[in-house]
Amino acid sequence: MDKHTRAVFFDLDDTLYDQLLPFARAIKQESLDIGTNNIEEIFKSSRKASDLLWEEYKKGNLSLDGLRRERLIRSFREYGITLTRSQASGIQESYEKYQGEISLFPSVKKAVKLLKDNHIICGIITNGPVQHQKRKIEALKLSELISDEYIFVSDGIGFAKPDKNIFSYVSKRINIPANQSVYIGDSWENDVVPAYEAGWTPVWYNYRHRKGGTGKEPEIIDDYGRLISYLKEKIS
Ligand SMILES: [Mg+2]
Repeated sequence: MDKHTRAVFFDLDDTLYDQLLPFARAIKQESLDIGTNNIEEIFKSSRKASDLLWEEYKKGNLSLDGLRRERLIRSFREYGITLTRSQASGIQESYEKYQGEISLFPSVKKAVKLLKDNHIICGIITNGPVQHQKRKIEALKLSELISDEYIFVSDGIGFAKPDKNIFSYVSKRINIPANQSVYIGDSWENDVVPAYEAGWTPVWYNYRHRKGGTGKEPEIIDDYGRLISYLKEKIS
């Protein structure tokens, strides 16, 4: 049996697949006049709203449906568009439908194969409700690539990013020290910062060119070609 001594984990949403695509399709479906506004900007704003509202959901002040509607209403409002509740529900419904039709970024398989060929544990740490995240994992056919025992969904384990304990929990479960573990994710606040705090090596997959915080200098990559070169260098 292989003795694993290192691990590389990925975030799911917007790291392994393009989360903007199902979102853009859902908006198109509602035939909203978004004027000259950029869907990507509205999308980024809805992700931010989602993170803010997540706390309220965790405290029980907001239902999951409420959160999903409210993040849309807030982000559209920021761009001068008023959404009715029913429009927000309509977008969310189509968004979920199209999330069942997502596909992996082109070079994900190549990256995972590289890691596995080098006896490195390869896994996923993702925030969200278990069923919802598993549905996307299924749509992406990720179980063909990544063993189920290395897929960690926040609601299933009781810790969620940006709580660094989620990383410490995974370290214990896989029995690999934090300083031998890499985490690749697209969010500065949810991925880079807590991975650092837990002693992991974060890689910021910043292909949407968001602004990061200060005080930390993660490896920054904006495409999978560069990620693969980085991993090859790490491995050698
Ligand atoms: Mg993400």
